[in-house]
Parts: sequence; C-alpha cells; structure tokens
Amino acid sequence: MQYEGTLYRPPSEARSLIIQVTIGCAHNRCTFCNMYREKKFRVREKEEIMRDLDECRAYYGPMVRRVFFADGDALVVKTELLLELLDYVHKNFPAVERIAAYGTAKDVLKKSEEDLKALAAAGLELIYLGAESGDDRVLEHIKKDVKAADIIAAGQKLKRCGLQTSVTLISGLGGRKGIRDHAIKSAELITGMNPEYASFLTLRLYEGTEMNEEVKRGDMELITPDEIVEEMELFLKNVDSPGTVFRTNHASNYVVLAGNLNEDIPRMLGELEEAKEEQRYRLEEWRRHI
Ligand code: SF4
Repeated sequence: MQYEGTLYRPPSEARSLIIQVTIGCAHNRCTFCNMYREKKFRVREKEEIMRDLDECRAYYGPMVRRVFFADGDALVVKTELLLELLDYVHKNFPAVERIAAYGTAKDVLKKSEEDLKALAAAGLELIYLGAESGDDRVLEHIKKDVKAADIIAAGQKLKRCGLQTSVTLISGLGGRKGIRDHAIKSAELITGMNPEYASFLTLRLYEGTEMNEEVKRGDMELITPDEIVEEMELFLKNVDSPGTVFRTNHASNYVVLAGNLNEDIPRMLGELEEAKEEQRYRLEEWRRHI
C-alpha cells in the first residue's frame, strides 16, 4: 500500500492501521497549519480504499485491533460510503476494537443524528476534533470558519449519538494579547462539550504558513514557556468537565501533563508550578524537530 503525501495521525493512534479515506483536508485554510498544503482535497474511490484494506489483511492478518481513517477530516465523507467501509473493516479484521477518524465541527453538524447513530452502530467509535480554541476571536483570526458555539454543539451531538470525542486545543494560539481569553474560553468550550478526551498541543510555526508571516512582521507575538504555563493554569482553574481524560503529551508541549478532569486538576497545577520554578521545559531543539 502506498500512502499519498505526508501522513498525520493523533499520538494515540500510533499503533493503529491507518487507512487514507480522503486525501488532504477539505478546509485547508487554517493560518497556522501546513499539514495538507501540498494536497488537493479529494475523497478516494471506494475500490481504492477497499484494495488497501485487502492488502493490509493479506499482510497483517485478521488480528488488527485499531483502525484510523485519515486524512484531515474523514468524517466529511458521505455516510453511505463510511458505512460500507466500516463494514468492510469488520469483515477483514473481525477482532477490531476501535475505529476512529478526524472530523470537523462542520462535518458533525452537517450529518443528521440518524447518520451519526448509524456510524456509531457500525463501529465508528471516536472522532478527533481539532477545536484549537474556544475563543471566537482566535477562531476567526486563524480562519477556522467556525464559532465556539458550533464546536460545542458538535461535541454535544456526537455524545447524544453515541460517538466519543477527542478534542485538541493549541496553547499559545491567541498570542500574547489573547492569553486570558484563549485560556478561559477554551475552558468554557471543554466544559460545554464534556468530551471523553481533551488535549493541548503547543503552537509551533512552520515556514510558508500565514501565521508564520504574521509573527515575522511583528503583527502577532508568540508567548514564552512561562506564559504557556500561566495560560494552562488559567485553563485548568476554569474548566469543569468531570471524567475527561486530559493530556499535554504531544512533542510540541513544554510540560507534559496527564490526568483526569476534574479530579487531577490540583496535582496538575502543582506540576505546572514546579516546572515553572525549576524552568523544567522541553527544549526548543526538540520541538523544532516536530
Ligand atoms: S487545522 Fe485541521 S481543519 Fe485546519 S487546515 Fe489543518 S487539518 Fe484542516
């Protein structure tokens, strides 16, 4: 099987079989993101995807446990095709325990509750939703083309339909001016969604992105590791989402946290304070390699 272009997957899908259902991201406009810039978005032909699944079955055998549908927002694909693919995954890999995909809030809101319930019943278990921020000003600035209320509505809809959600936010995305609102409104977003999983990356800029140019021009100020910690502290002090598994374990993060909201918030706040006092941050050299 030949993957097309650079492949991305969430950290927790490292051991999953990754199947490209789409190529690229249908939105592909966020100002900080360079993931799919080189790809023109398209949904792959059903036969192509099924051939990949056949090949993987022949190579790995039937015991694959986890499958991840890539690229950027596989949930944009028509429900009928997704249902056929889910069925085909189960036929090829009867021991499969989890099938997950990237999805956007818009994808979720466009699908009917019946469709989402059918996808859940067919074995789609988890949607990775890149919220990035709960602050509408940040969302507008990064051209996410969605409001925080839409993201919350999408999260609530997924929950009602029996699908789990893993929400990603980005530390530092509001720049220096936006620290407080980005932190507090992101906390409100997670509170409103009460997802199964929530995690933060930390902003890392790439050549060729609009945001990188903005920072070079001096129109946006990046924040320091100390400020990233303060932003995270504000988030943790304001979030109320019992049971959410919380992680900052991506390679871009200065401080790694792992715990459950709300019970582990005091411990995680303590770890942040300690990291700040001892300046125990992940090195920039490491982050540059992401
Ligand atoms: S951040 Fe997500 S939605 Fe935005 S362009 Fe990148 S992949 Fe697409």
